[in-house]
Amino acid sequence: MPHPLPDSRNADIQVWVGDGLVHRDDAKVSVFDSVVQGGDAVWEGLRVYDGKVAALDAHLDRLFASAHAMAFAGIPERAWVRDALFQTLKANGMLTDTHVRLTLTRGPKTSSSMNPAFNVYGCTLIVLAEWKPPIYDGRDGVRLITSAIRRNGPQFVDSKIHHNNLINNILAKIQANVAGFDAALMLDDRGFASEANGTNVFFAKRGVLLTPTADSCLPGITRATVLTLARGAGIPTQERNISLTEVYTCDEAFMTGTMGELTPILEVDGRGIGSGVRGDMTERLQALYAEHVADTGTPIT
Ligand code: PMP
Repeated sequence: MPHPLPDSRNADIQVWVGDGLVHRDDAKVSVFDSVVQGGDAVWEGLRVYDGKVAALDAHLDRLFASAHAMAFAGIPERAWVRDALFQTLKANGMLTDTHVRLTLTRGPKTSSSMNPAFNVYGCTLIVLAEWKPPIYDGRDGVRLITSAIRRNGPQFVDSKIHHNNLINNILAKIQANVAGFDAALMLDDRGFASEANGTNVFFAKRGVLLTPTADSCLPGITRATVLTLARGAGIPTQERNISLTEVYTCDEAFMTGTMGELTPILEVDGRGIGSGVRGDMTERLQALYAEHVADTGTPIT
């Protein structure tokens, strides 16, 4: 018996792999593909709202920047990637309530190896679009633990590349799962907060919105949007080092990401945050984010 899917609407979806669409059961890459050989790929998570893809240009900019930083050869044209995305969404009738995992691998190799010299075919594009409501509840919030696994900064693998080697973030999530928490807060090499295992983090203290510098976290697109919206609303913002004590003693906290939008953090390491319920600044920024998403986005054509 096949396992039940988290959302049964995804049972017969079409997935773009390489040059075209196939049924999910046939959506496969070669064992010679770089993503199998070394996790050698870059990716983006996008969201579709009301016939529009949110922040499409920002996501494609980051995808191509990551591929360039990784020295991929045979990177497809931006217009072709965009078209593959739109074709996938239209083939599945997905015009809202959809999450897309867009992956670009270094492509198949002529022999098993981590060496990019064996990559002579160019990149493999995967567009996996699924019906998926935002992952976390925007009102009830989440409980976090701090992970023993550190998030890497540029002295190892630069967190500014959105690559498929996020094993440290996966190990952090395993810690949270084992401990029965929703997500893990990751620290940088010096012990300052960097991000949660798959989202960026924000803290509010006496009316000021704080977020860790982007030295050791993914510079999230939602993170950037929230900073812009806060500044536009007259909320003072600071990107700086934030210690765990500051985390425990802040007035409000929330996580940001394309998948979960803005999610209140109500507890970290057993310390209640603020009054233990979603804070006013969080609620205000959630409303501004919802307005922003409704007012922007690229229509699916
Ligand atoms: N951090 C990590 C490690 C992530 O994988 C993601 C989501 N791709 C984020 C943060 C949030 O980034 P964004 O707001 O661009 O979705």
